[in-house]
Amino acid sequence: MRIGLRIHTWPESILRKKCKEVKIVDERIEQLFEQMVLLMRANKGIGLAANQVGLDLRLVVIETQTGILKLVNPRIVKTEGRIDFIEGCLSFPGIELKIKRARRVRVSALNEKGVALDYQAEGMLAVVFQHEVDHINGIPFIDRVSFWTRLKIRPLLKKIEKETRYGMCEQK
Ligand SMILES: [Zn+2]
Repeated sequence: MRIGLRIHTWPESILRKKCKEVKIVDERIEQLFEQMVLLMRANKGIGLAANQVGLDLRLVVIETQTGILKLVNPRIVKTEGRIDFIEGCLSFPGIELKIKRARRVRVSALNEKGVALDYQAEGMLAVVFQHEVDHINGIPFIDRVSFWTRLKIRPLLKKIEKETRYGMCEQK
């Protein structure tokens, strides 16, 4: 199937954008979700935010053990505990970073039908929620590491920047 969206990679400016609230959850949103899920799966991701595919909207998809979550305007309303977790990101191919996150989160969002729901997550799923909500707030995971780690990964970032500039970042 041909799809119009592609994964945006560092340093494309939309990754720094605080995305807009979705006002109406309609058929168009459902279609965007479907395309996001296809892209996430094709690239073997477990989470994807709308600005990673070039859309200025607060939409997130997450792959869980029990199925896909499609979240509209997700907000983290409660956090508990701490966890260090090694994260990757489809917008930063080849980079893995250990990030300090909350161990448990509670998230409020609308689902793809526009119904308000609360989600509780722990461990990896809690980390994915935090990573994706960061995305739609314009905060890529490289902002969550120390100055020294950032310095250490500079050559890797430069490589991604170069590939992004020439449209060479792997696309499925
Ligand atoms: Zn990411």
